[in-house]
Amino acid sequence: MNEQIKSLEEALQLSPDNHILRLMLAQVYQESSYPQEALKHYGILLEKGEQHDKALVPAGLIAFETGDITLARQYLSIAQKLNIDAKSLEDKLDSLKVKVPVNSDESSPTNTFADDLEIEPSIDFSNVGGLEDVKKLIERLIIMPFKRSELYAKYGKKAGGGVLMYGPPGCGKTMLARATAGECKLPFLNIKIVNILSKWIGESENNLHEAFKLAREKAPCVVFIDELDALAFSRQKQSTNYMRGLVDQLLQELDSIVSDNNDLLIIAATNAPWDIDDAMLRPGRFDRRIFVPPPDETARRAILRLHFANRFADSLDEKRLAKETPMFSGADLEALVEQGVEMVIDEAIMSGTEPPLTMKHLEEARAQLQPSTLDWLRRAKNYVEFANQDQKYNDVAKYLKSKEPKKYKI
Ligand code: ATP
Repeated sequence: MNEQIKSLEEALQLSPDNHILRLMLAQVYQESSYPQEALKHYGILLEKGEQHDKALVPAGLIAFETGDITLARQYLSIAQKLNIDAKSLEDKLDSLKVKVPVNSDESSPTNTFADDLEIEPSIDFSNVGGLEDVKKLIERLIIMPFKRSELYAKYGKKAGGGVLMYGPPGCGKTMLARATAGECKLPFLNIKIVNILSKWIGESENNLHEAFKLAREKAPCVVFIDELDALAFSRQKQSTNYMRGLVDQLLQELDSIVSDNNDLLIIAATNAPWDIDDAMLRPGRFDRRIFVPPPDETARRAILRLHFANRFADSLDEKRLAKETPMFSGADLEALVEQGVEMVIDEAIMSGTEPPLTMKHLEEARAQLQPSTLDWLRRAKNYVEFANQDQKYNDVAKYLKSKEPKKYKI
C-alpha cells in the first residue's frame, strides 16, 4: 500500500467526519487499483449524504466493474434524480441490454437447464432409507398442501413458499427432494450453483431467471436449489459485491412465485444455514426449515439394505453393521459398501475365483472409514450455543442431546 494511502488513512482516523479527506482517500484507492476499498469509502460518503456529485458516478462504475449490477443501477438512479451527469455509467449499464461480454470477443453462453430437468424422477420415499420423521414433515409441509390444495384453500391456509433442508453433508437432502418430486409425480428441476454462476456481468442473474422460467413452463414442478448458502450468501457477510445481484434476483423470483400463484414447489438445501441472507428466510420465502440429521441405527439399517440390494453376497448382516457405524451419513454408508465391493472384486481378480461379498469385506472397509458428519455437528454446536436466540436451531440442539452424538462427545 502506498505512502499516500497510509497517511490519508491515518488522517481520516483522527478526523472521521472530514468528508473531503474521505473523498480523496477513495479516489487514491481507485487510482491505485483497490476498487473495493474505494467503493467502501464512496459508500460511506453516500450514506452520509455527502459529496454526491463526486462520489456517485465513480462508485457506480466500480460497482459495475466488480459485478454488482444492482448497486450500479441504484447509484445511477440516484444520480439521475439529482440531475448529476452520469452518462458514462448509463452507457455501461445499457451495454448489458445487448449482452456484450466484457473484455472478450467470445459470446456469452446461455444455459438452457434442460439437462437439469427430470420429467419423471425415478425414485420416491421407498428409496430413501429411514428418516421417517423427516419424511412425515415433508409430507405435511410440501406434499399434502400440493395434493390437497382445495382442502387448504377451504380453510384459508396458504400453500406455497419454500422449504429449506439443512444438515450435515451426505445425509440425503438431495435424495429427499428428488423423492418428493417422485411422490407427487412431478418434474424435478435441480438448479446447481455451478450452472448458474458465470464470469459474464449480469449473466448469473440471467441464468437464474432462465432456470425459473423453465420451471414455470413445466409447472407444476419441484424446483431444488442445492447449496443455497453459496447462492444466497448473506449480503452482510460478503466482502465483495459480486454475488449481491444474485441474491436480489433469487428474492425476486421467489416473490413472483408467491404473488403469481405459480404451481412451483421450492425446496432448497444447505450445509450452512447460518450463512444464508436473512431476507431469504422471511415469510413466503424459505420460511419453513427441516433439519435432516445423520441417520440413526434403524435408518442406517434401511440405508444399508438398499445398498445391499442386487449384490452377489453371502449372509450380510445390516443390523450388525448399522450398530458399528454410529454417526455415518448415508453417503458414508454407500462409500463403505462400495469399498467392500472393490475389495471383493480385487480378490476375484487375484484368485481367479468369484467369491461373494461378505461381512469380512465390509468390516475391513468399516475399519478404514470415519464418519464425515462430526465436523459439521461440532460447527453446528457453536451456532446452537451462541446464535440460537431466535430458537432457529432447536432441532439441532435436541439432536445433539440424543444418544449417539453424546457418546461421541460432540
Ligand atoms: P450434500 O449436502 O453433500 O449435497 P445431501 O445431504 O444432499 O449431501 P445426498 O446427495 O442426497 O446428500 O446423498 C448422497 C448419497 O448418499 C446418495 O446418492 C445416496 O446414495 C446416499 N444416501 C444418503 N442418504 C440416504 C438415505 N437416507 N437412503 C439411501 N441412500 C442415502
